[in-house]
Amino acid sequence: MTTPKPADLQFAPTPEPLSPLLATQPQLAVPLSYLQTVAGTLQIGGKSMQQIADVLGQQRFYAYDRQAITQKIRQLRSKMPAQLKLHYAIKANPYLPVVQHVGTLVDGFDVASQGELLLALQTGMSAAKISFAGPGKTDAELRAALTAGCCVHIESVGELHRLCAIASQCGQIATIALRVNPEFELKAAGMKMAGGAKAFGIDQQQVLALLPKLSAMPVQLVGFHLYCGSQNLQADAILQTQQQIMQLLLQLLPLCPTALQFVNLGGGLGVPYYSSDRAVDLDKLAEGWAELFEKLPAELQQLEFILELGRYLVAEAGVYACKVVDIKQSHGQTFVVCNGGMHHHLANSGNFGQVIRRNYPVAFADKLDQPLVAAVQVVGPLCTPLDVLADKIQLPKAEVGDWFVVLQSGAYGATASPQAFLGHGVVAEILL
Ligand SMILES: *Cc1c(COP(=O)(O)O)cnc(C)c1O
Repeated sequence: MTTPKPADLQFAPTPEPLSPLLATQPQLAVPLSYLQTVAGTLQIGGKSMQQIADVLGQQRFYAYDRQAITQKIRQLRSKMPAQLKLHYAIKANPYLPVVQHVGTLVDGFDVASQGELLLALQTGMSAAKISFAGPGKTDAELRAALTAGCCVHIESVGELHRLCAIASQCGQIATIALRVNPEFELKAAGMKMAGGAKAFGIDQQQVLALLPKLSAMPVQLVGFHLYCGSQNLQADAILQTQQQIMQLLLQLLPLCPTALQFVNLGGGLGVPYYSSDRAVDLDKLAEGWAELFEKLPAELQQLEFILELGRYLVAEAGVYACKVVDIKQSHGQTFVVCNGGMHHHLANSGNFGQVIRRNYPVAFADKLDQPLVAAVQVVGPLCTPLDVLADKIQLPKAEVGDWFVVLQSGAYGATASPQAFLGHGVVAEILL
């Protein structure tokens, strides 16, 4: 575990508070713009954490707010030009009720395994609107996508040849998109997934060489896919990447054997987690998109463009809730010990790709209107010092039985955590 820098220990109040709650709860820093509070109590779907626990019969859980998801997606879509479509990347939150709900608000799903493919199909989303990306697709997965009728996003030359062999065996033409690893990268992304040597996509130069050969293969090329990175809060950087993609397309299109249908522009829109983060400037994105699509070269005007987002659509709508079971003192520090921790929420513990551990926005769910009294350590039940829920965090006075919540937790939570570690049992989920 990395030691937090002193600057991360104290949260300065945000210059532009989003909610009056921030006056008493500066550690919340950013969120609660999509969630409801009633008399100092956080609610998800109109229920307090205790009410949700009663309904679930579980004392720690992820709760997702249906209305918040709807609001977030509608807000984004109101800023998108008509030529830009929206897909949901299921890996961010594959909880079936969430996927089903999001499916009613987006134009398609992106999946990255046979499991996700099955889930997507069972929501009733048409197979033609499901794209299957991800490195290392097995023959069984390629066959599943082909048989289901999904578009396979090809990640390597070898994968293309394996798919061709399977398509020939089945007497079918496979619908494919080529995922391109471009020579540029997404600036300011929290996690870069393109530019340079990467496991994802086919290098731009190899794609140029491959395109003329496709007409001899049992495939129909319908699109390109460029996914450059994740958790980006900078509208300028996102727009710049999309402009670079348009330029690259002008090189690729003349080499395509048939007319393309779509280009998946990736996404990468992030959400604010830490006190220094600011939400993506949607108005700036909207302006940039309007200009980008107004000035679209004639060759690109018949194409559909797709934004594929995971985190941005669902993260703010979810919380992880657990209960205080013990409070102890050690060498002058107060430890608040909860019945849940990093085995349920790895990202919050700082071990999901973060370089420095910083606190997510956290609170006692029923004490939002109470003053902060002391800096405490909030830890989980695992026998490892990695199991930190919040480090040196200012909170109201803690009592055994309090509901502790981690906000901004609707993405990369339950399925992105080592739930079997130490045998404390799996976490419940609910969409309300
Ligand atoms: C992970 C991933 C996404 C979703 O990323 P978010 O940061 O959650 O929006 C989208 N597309 C691809 C190809 C991915 O690998």
